[in-house]
Amino acid sequence: MSPSRPSSPPPAAQALPDPAPLPPGGLPPGLLGGPDGPDGPAASRGSRGRVKPPRHLADLTLPERRAAVTELGERPFRADQLSRQYFARLADDPGQMTDLPQSSRQELADSLLPPLLTAERELACDGGTTRKTLWRAFDGAYVESVLMRYPGRVTMCVSSQAGCGMACPFCATGQAGLTRSLSTAEIVEQVVAGARTLARGQVPGGLGRVSNVVFMGMGEPLANYRSVVQAVRRLTEPAPAGLGLSARGITVSTVGLVPAIGRLAAEGLPVTLAVSLHAPDDEARDELVPVNRRWKVAEVLDAAWRYADVTGRRVSIEYALIRDVNDQAWRADLLGTLLAGRLAHVNLIPLNPTPGSRWTASRAGTQEEFVARLASHGVPVTVRDTRGREIDGACGQLAAVLTRGDGPPEPRSADPGGDPPEPRSADPGGDPPEPPECAPRPRGRTSPTHRPLTGPPARVAGPVTSASP
Ligand code: SAH
Repeated sequence: MSPSRPSSPPPAAQALPDPAPLPPGGLPPGLLGGPDGPDGPAASRGSRGRVKPPRHLADLTLPERRAAVTELGERPFRADQLSRQYFARLADDPGQMTDLPQSSRQELADSLLPPLLTAERELACDGGTTRKTLWRAFDGAYVESVLMRYPGRVTMCVSSQAGCGMACPFCATGQAGLTRSLSTAEIVEQVVAGARTLARGQVPGGLGRVSNVVFMGMGEPLANYRSVVQAVRRLTEPAPAGLGLSARGITVSTVGLVPAIGRLAAEGLPVTLAVSLHAPDDEARDELVPVNRRWKVAEVLDAAWRYADVTGRRVSIEYALIRDVNDQAWRADLLGTLLAGRLAHVNLIPLNPTPGSRWTASRAGTQEEFVARLASHGVPVTVRDTRGREIDGACGQLAAVLTRGDGPPEPRSADPGGDPPEPRSADPGGDPPEPPECAPRPRGRTSPTHRPLTGPPARVAGPVTSASP
């Protein structure tokens, strides 16, 4: 391999799909907004006639929680106690909230801690240190989250929407379309559930805490802007207002909704921005990330550089390497040219083929050359590690199948069964600098120790002990 060797574009991009239709209406509905916002103790109807998730204390600021408990006839400080139980003690059983008067516990919990997500299935691999949970929401919508424990850090990959309206043709979630945006509390609950399993010693490696959160599960976070930003606030505010995580450990990944990137930069939240670029040229990106037909590569990158300027945070450029589609040497060089000298880092993701897809991951040599060419432009690059890929079968695939209704929610074996072993992808930089690594990966080479949940679905708050490896 000689990375400095000049390369020239081929006559035409190969193997790109027929142009996929843009999401209905050209752009996804609610592009810059989320659900109407929770407004009552039980599931209620929003202005668009949709039933909204029940109100939960994680939807509310601390002053709003104080107002809510006052309405119940309680003293305002009860809101602080209840919040501490939820965010600091990670309690889920009102019976154990002994600092609250016994007579009010149940009413407070019913009003402000309604069950939002039910663990439908849990799959584990890497000796139990990678755990993916399929959640069912109050309205039957499915979402997924993944916990990944590494030496020294724990990353939670969370969903921001049930389904996704961005229609990226290589993504399982994109194929299924958008069901709905999640509420703030539905997002926060995924992280709190992970924090509980760590605090209760249910993840091998001893007691632990969540250190990183990546919005790389199902959905387009910036198409559910309000709920996602509120969730980031809840995750970062110290108890009793929130969970007290560092904003620097949080990554919001987007297809590139330019106005929303600008808005996020102005929030004063030093979260890491990840941009799912996947191609350095509009011809390929128009197909791989259909929203590119609205905001082109140059506009998306401009917004990313403004984000880096305002926040001082290095932007992560996500690039799924797809064999003969976007992995050509000339595209590596073009990408390198666009990123050289910028506050950016490239995260290459070996494509995890979705069922029925004619696309597959790049050959090992092609991937190596891509890495070397980027490096020759001075662009920092890592290849996402392949951890947990045994249970991924593509992040979102499990839920996508259930949402389409073409597969029963049976305990499905995630066994890659019969797939030929694949070489582990290169990790040239050793330890990847920042977390994003829970997105889909090619299926694995080792036997997973996944275990479907058995028995009646557990409330998210409940211990999912049956899934312990
Ligand atoms: N909507 C957000 C979050 C999506 S998931 C976004 O697009 O950034 C996080 C990452 O996984 C995105 O970069 C997405 O493009 C990538 N991804 C989706 N499906 C994939 C697949 N089958 N193989 C590899 N990466 C995939």
